Amino acid sequence: VIREKTGLKHLIGKDGRVTGAALSDGSVIDLDFAVVGIGVAPNDQLAKEAGLEVANGIVVDEFARTSDPAIFAAGDCAALPWQGGRIRLESVQNAVDQAEAAAAVIAGGNEPYAPKPWFWSDQYDVKLQIAGFNLGYDETLLRPGTREGAHSVWYFREGMLIAVDAINDAKAYVTGKKLLESGTNPDKSILADPSADLKSLLV
Ligand SMILES: Cc1cc2nc3c(=O)[nH]c(=O)nc-3n(C[C@H](O)[C@H](O)[C@H](O)COP(=O)(O)OP(=O)(O)OC[C@H]3O[C@@H](n4cnc5c(N)ncnc54)[C@H](O)[C@@H]3O)c2cc1C
Repeated sequence: VIREKTGLKHLIGKDGRVTGAALSDGSVIDLDFAVVGIGVAPNDQLAKEAGLEVANGIVVDEFARTSDPAIFAAGDCAALPWQGGRIRLESVQNAVDQAEAAAAVIAGGNEPYAPKPWFWSDQYDVKLQIAGFNLGYDETLLRPGTREGAHSVWYFREGMLIAVDAINDAKAYVTGKKLLESGTNPDKSILADPSADLKSLLV
Protein backbone atom coordinates (compact mmCIF):
# COMPACT_ATOMS: atom_id res chain seq x y z
CA VAL A 1 0.00 0.00 0.00
CA ILE A 2 1.31 3.45 -0.88
CA ARG A 3 -0.06 6.20 1.37
CA GLU A 4 0.11 9.54 -0.33
CA LYS A 5 0.27 12.83 1.60
CA THR A 6 1.14 10.89 4.74
CA GLY A 7 4.33 11.44 6.73
CA LEU A 8 6.07 9.57 9.49
CA LYS A 9 5.63 11.05 12.98
CA HIS A 10 7.92 8.58 14.66
CA LEU A 11 8.92 4.95 14.77
CA ILE A 12 7.88 2.78 17.69
CA GLY A 13 10.33 0.27 19.15
CA LYS A 14 10.67 -2.41 21.78
CA ASP A 15 13.79 -4.16 23.04
CA GLY A 16 15.97 -2.39 20.49
CA ARG A 17 13.80 -3.38 17.51
CA VAL A 18 11.30 -1.39 15.48
CA THR A 19 7.73 -2.63 15.96
CA GLY A 20 5.57 0.07 14.47
CA ALA A 21 5.22 3.48 12.88
CA ALA A 22 3.01 6.36 13.98
CA LEU A 23 1.89 8.30 10.90
CA SER A 24 0.88 11.91 10.46
CA ASP A 25 -2.75 10.96 9.74
CA GLY A 26 -3.01 9.57 13.30
CA SER A 27 -2.82 5.93 12.29
CA VAL A 28 -0.31 3.42 13.65
CA ILE A 29 0.93 0.46 11.62
CA ASP A 30 2.74 -2.64 12.88
CA LEU A 31 6.17 -3.27 11.36
CA ASP A 32 8.62 -6.14 11.18
CA PHE A 33 11.30 -3.86 9.77
CA ALA A 34 11.65 -0.39 8.26
CA VAL A 35 13.39 0.65 5.05
CA VAL A 36 14.39 4.31 5.27
CA GLY A 37 14.40 6.40 2.09
CA ILE A 38 15.21 9.95 3.07
CA GLY A 39 15.57 11.55 -0.32
CA VAL A 40 18.41 13.01 -2.29
CA ALA A 41 20.39 16.18 -1.69
CA PRO A 42 23.22 17.18 -4.00
CA ASN A 43 26.69 17.05 -2.47
CA ASP A 44 28.06 20.41 -3.60
CA GLN A 45 31.01 20.54 -1.23
CA LEU A 46 33.68 20.00 -3.89
CA ALA A 47 32.08 22.59 -6.18
CA LYS A 48 31.79 25.10 -3.34
CA GLU A 49 35.41 24.61 -2.38
CA ALA A 50 36.35 25.20 -6.02
CA GLY A 51 34.53 28.55 -5.82
CA LEU A 52 31.67 27.57 -8.12
CA GLU A 53 28.18 28.98 -7.72
CA VAL A 54 25.87 26.42 -6.10
CA ALA A 55 22.14 26.57 -5.42
CA ASN A 56 20.55 23.17 -4.80
CA GLY A 57 23.28 21.73 -7.04
CA ILE A 58 26.00 23.15 -9.23
CA VAL A 59 24.62 26.09 -11.17
CA VAL A 60 25.12 25.63 -14.93
CA ASP A 61 23.97 27.51 -18.00
CA GLU A 62 22.27 25.94 -21.03
CA PHE A 63 25.70 24.84 -22.28
CA ALA A 64 26.39 22.90 -19.02
CA ARG A 65 29.00 25.52 -18.10
CA THR A 66 29.41 26.36 -14.41
CA SER A 67 30.16 29.87 -13.11
CA ASP A 68 33.76 29.11 -14.13
CA PRO A 69 33.50 28.77 -17.93
CA ALA A 70 36.34 26.22 -17.95
CA ILE A 71 34.37 23.84 -15.70
CA PHE A 72 31.30 21.87 -16.80
CA ALA A 73 28.76 19.89 -14.79
CA ALA A 74 26.08 17.44 -15.91
CA GLY A 75 23.65 14.96 -14.40
CA ASP A 76 22.03 14.82 -10.97
CA CYS A 77 24.39 17.42 -9.48
CA ALA A 78 23.72 20.13 -12.09
CA ALA A 79 21.06 22.81 -11.52
CA LEU A 80 20.14 23.78 -15.07
CA PRO A 81 17.97 26.55 -16.51
CA TRP A 82 14.33 25.50 -16.89
CA GLN A 83 11.38 27.68 -17.85
CA GLY A 84 12.74 30.80 -16.21
CA GLY A 85 13.94 28.96 -13.09
CA ARG A 86 16.32 26.15 -12.30
CA ILE A 87 15.87 22.41 -11.76
CA ARG A 88 17.92 19.30 -11.26
CA LEU A 89 16.72 16.40 -13.37
CA GLU A 90 17.54 13.18 -11.56
CA SER A 91 17.26 10.56 -14.30
CA VAL A 92 19.56 8.39 -16.35
CA GLN A 93 18.31 10.02 -19.55
CA ASN A 94 19.24 13.51 -18.41
CA ALA A 95 22.64 12.36 -17.11
CA VAL A 96 23.42 10.91 -20.56
CA ASP A 97 21.90 13.71 -22.67
CA GLN A 98 23.37 16.59 -20.68
CA ALA A 99 26.80 14.95 -20.58
CA GLU A 100 26.69 14.55 -24.37
CA ALA A 101 25.65 18.19 -24.75
CA ALA A 102 28.49 19.29 -22.46
CA ALA A 103 30.99 17.15 -24.39
CA ALA A 104 29.86 18.71 -27.67
CA VAL A 105 30.42 22.22 -26.27
CA ILE A 106 33.84 21.26 -24.90
CA ALA A 107 34.67 19.97 -28.40
CA GLY A 108 33.82 23.37 -29.88
CA GLY A 109 30.06 23.12 -30.44
CA ASN A 110 27.58 25.84 -29.60
CA GLU A 111 24.32 23.93 -29.18
CA PRO A 112 22.31 24.78 -26.04
CA TYR A 113 20.95 21.82 -24.10
CA ALA A 114 17.15 21.76 -24.15
CA PRO A 115 16.11 18.87 -21.88
CA LYS A 116 13.08 16.81 -22.80
CA PRO A 117 12.47 15.08 -19.50
CA TRP A 118 11.25 11.51 -19.46
CA PHE A 119 11.50 8.79 -16.88
CA TRP A 120 10.55 5.18 -16.32
CA SER A 121 10.46 2.82 -13.39
CA ASP A 122 9.22 -0.75 -12.86
CA GLN A 123 7.52 -1.36 -9.51
CA TYR A 124 6.40 -4.99 -9.31
CA ASP A 125 3.59 -5.30 -11.88
CA VAL A 126 3.45 -1.55 -12.51
CA LYS A 127 5.38 0.07 -15.32
CA LEU A 128 5.52 3.80 -14.74
CA GLN A 129 6.51 6.01 -17.65
CA ILE A 130 6.63 9.78 -17.37
CA ALA A 131 6.98 12.31 -20.15
CA GLY A 132 7.56 15.97 -19.34
CA PHE A 133 7.81 17.57 -15.92
CA ASN A 134 4.66 18.33 -13.96
CA LEU A 135 6.07 21.23 -11.95
CA GLY A 136 3.41 23.88 -11.29
CA TYR A 137 0.47 21.99 -12.84
CA ASP A 138 -2.98 23.43 -12.10
CA GLU A 139 -5.18 20.81 -13.75
CA THR A 140 -5.09 17.05 -14.23
CA LEU A 141 -7.06 14.68 -16.41
CA LEU A 142 -7.28 10.97 -15.61
CA ARG A 143 -7.69 8.71 -18.64
CA PRO A 144 -8.35 4.97 -18.37
CA GLY A 145 -6.23 2.85 -20.72
CA THR A 146 -7.53 0.15 -23.02
CA ARG A 147 -5.91 -2.72 -21.06
CA GLU A 148 -7.01 -3.66 -17.57
CA GLY A 149 -5.14 -1.70 -14.88
CA ALA A 150 -3.79 0.80 -17.42
CA HIS A 151 -4.37 4.51 -17.00
CA SER A 152 -2.66 7.84 -17.44
CA VAL A 153 -2.66 11.22 -15.75
CA TRP A 154 -2.30 14.25 -17.99
CA TYR A 155 -0.97 17.43 -16.35
CA PHE A 156 -1.78 20.94 -17.57
CA ARG A 157 -0.55 24.38 -16.57
CA GLU A 158 -2.61 27.34 -17.75
CA GLY A 159 -4.30 25.05 -20.25
CA MET A 160 -1.07 23.71 -21.76
CA LEU A 161 0.00 20.08 -21.51
CA ILE A 162 3.22 19.84 -19.47
CA ALA A 163 3.50 16.16 -18.47
CA VAL A 164 1.97 12.70 -18.66
CA ASP A 165 2.25 9.88 -16.12
CA ALA A 166 1.40 6.54 -17.73
CA ILE A 167 0.71 3.46 -15.61
CA ASN A 168 1.03 0.26 -17.68
CA ASP A 169 -0.09 2.41 -20.61
CA ALA A 170 2.67 2.69 -23.21
CA LYS A 171 0.31 4.21 -25.78
CA ALA A 172 -0.49 7.16 -23.50
CA TYR A 173 3.20 7.64 -22.75
CA VAL A 174 4.27 7.59 -26.41
CA THR A 175 1.44 9.90 -27.44
CA GLY A 176 2.13 12.34 -24.59
CA LYS A 177 5.85 12.40 -25.35
CA LYS A 178 5.23 13.12 -29.04
CA LEU A 179 2.77 15.89 -28.19
CA LEU A 180 5.19 17.50 -25.73
CA GLU A 181 8.13 17.27 -28.13
CA SER A 182 6.19 18.84 -30.96
CA GLY A 183 4.62 21.48 -28.68
CA THR A 184 1.13 20.34 -29.66
CA ASN A 185 -1.63 20.90 -27.10
CA PRO A 186 -4.13 18.01 -27.17
CA ASP A 187 -7.86 18.39 -27.48
CA LYS A 188 -9.05 17.70 -23.92
CA SER A 189 -12.44 16.39 -25.06
CA ILE A 190 -10.65 13.61 -26.98
CA LEU A 191 -8.41 12.85 -24.01
CA ALA A 192 -11.36 12.71 -21.65
CA ASP A 193 -13.18 10.23 -23.89
CA PRO A 194 -11.79 6.74 -23.13
CA SER A 195 -13.23 5.36 -26.37
CA ALA A 196 -11.37 7.93 -28.51
CA ASP A 197 -8.16 6.74 -30.17
CA LEU A 198 -5.15 8.67 -28.86
CA LYS A 199 -3.62 8.47 -32.35
CA SER A 200 -6.14 11.06 -33.50
CA LEU A 201 -4.36 13.62 -31.28
CA LEU A 202 -1.21 13.32 -33.34
CA VAL A 203 -2.53 14.34 -36.74
C1 LIG B 1 17.39 3.80 -5.93
C2 LIG B 1 17.43 4.59 -7.22
C3 LIG B 1 16.61 4.24 -8.28
C4 LIG B 1 16.64 4.96 -9.46
N1 LIG B 1 15.83 4.58 -10.50
C5 LIG B 1 15.88 5.25 -11.65
C6 LIG B 1 15.07 4.85 -12.75
O1 LIG B 1 14.29 3.89 -12.67
N2 LIG B 1 15.16 5.55 -13.91
C7 LIG B 1 16.01 6.64 -14.03
O2 LIG B 1 16.07 7.25 -15.11
N3 LIG B 1 16.79 7.05 -13.00
C8 LIG B 1 16.75 6.38 -11.82
N4 LIG B 1 17.54 6.78 -10.78
C9 LIG B 1 18.33 8.01 -10.93
C10 LIG B 1 19.64 7.73 -11.68
O3 LIG B 1 20.33 6.67 -11.05
C11 LIG B 1 20.48 9.00 -11.65
O4 LIG B 1 19.73 10.07 -12.18
C12 LIG B 1 21.75 8.85 -12.46
O5 LIG B 1 22.53 7.78 -11.96
C13 LIG B 1 22.57 10.14 -12.39
O6 LIG B 1 23.79 9.97 -13.03
P1 LIG B 1 25.01 10.91 -12.66
O7 LIG B 1 26.14 10.47 -13.53
O8 LIG B 1 24.58 12.33 -12.70
O9 LIG B 1 25.35 10.62 -11.12
P2 LIG B 1 25.78 9.27 -10.42
O10 LIG B 1 25.28 8.07 -11.16
O11 LIG B 1 25.41 9.45 -8.97
O12 LIG B 1 27.36 9.27 -10.57
C14 LIG B 1 28.17 10.18 -9.83
C15 LIG B 1 29.51 9.48 -9.60
O13 LIG B 1 30.43 10.45 -9.09
C16 LIG B 1 31.17 9.84 -8.04
N5 LIG B 1 31.68 10.92 -7.19
C17 LIG B 1 31.00 11.71 -6.33
N6 LIG B 1 31.83 12.60 -5.74
C18 LIG B 1 33.06 12.37 -6.25
C19 LIG B 1 34.35 12.95 -6.03
N7 LIG B 1 34.51 13.97 -5.18
N8 LIG B 1 35.38 12.46 -6.73
C20 LIG B 1 35.23 11.45 -7.62
N9 LIG B 1 34.03 10.84 -7.86
C21 LIG B 1 32.99 11.30 -7.18
C22 LIG B 1 30.16 8.94 -7.36
O14 LIG B 1 30.81 7.94 -6.61
C23 LIG B 1 29.40 8.37 -8.56
O15 LIG B 1 30.01 7.22 -9.08
C24 LIG B 1 17.51 6.07 -9.58
C25 LIG B 1 18.34 6.42 -8.51
C26 LIG B 1 18.30 5.70 -7.35
C27 LIG B 1 19.22 6.10 -6.21
